[in-house]
Amino acid sequence: MDHTRTPLLTRPPIRPIPADMPSLIGLKRDQLTVIGLYAVIDPKKSKHGTWWVCRCTCGAYALRRTQKLKKPGHDACVRCHAAAAGQSPGT
Ligand SMILES: [Zn+2]
Repeated sequence: MDHTRTPLLTRPPIRPIPADMPSLIGLKRDQLTVIGLYAVIDPKKSKHGTWWVCRCTCGAYALRRTQKLKKPGHDACVRCHAAAAGQSPGT
């Protein structure tokens, strides 16, 4: 399953945050708010960090890595991105 392109309309599984990991729960990046930890990535295998489950203002979910969440900028779920890109007036 490609989580980066398919809208997540049901909440992905959330796992407990390890004691030695800083929690990003509650962190907001534009339309997304972090609601839980999705997957811990071994830093030796990937330098982009951990995956977090985020909730969009539209109610859908999205997965984001720590590195991306800490950069300011516009962000939203796939559905909102698609709507913003291909919106026709009057719908
Ligand atoms: Zn959205």
